Amino acid sequence: MSDDRVPMVLSAVKDGIVCPRCGCRHFRVVYTRRKPSVIMRLRECRHCGRRIVTKERA
Ligand SMILES: [Zn+2]
Repeated sequence: MSDDRVPMVLSAVKDGIVCPRCGCRHFRVVYTRRKPSVIMRLRECRHCGRRIVTKERA
């Protein structure tokens, strides 16, 4: 959490994502990358712009 420019990776989360900076739960999806076993999404906080990456099982 030291560098906001490097997205932190959260695993196996869906509706429980909380922005590590401002604590809000509203994100927009910047892009989705599909792999055979996992779906990675880059999300951006609507409130402060913090970016995080989430991994979901495909
Ligand atoms: Zn935020």
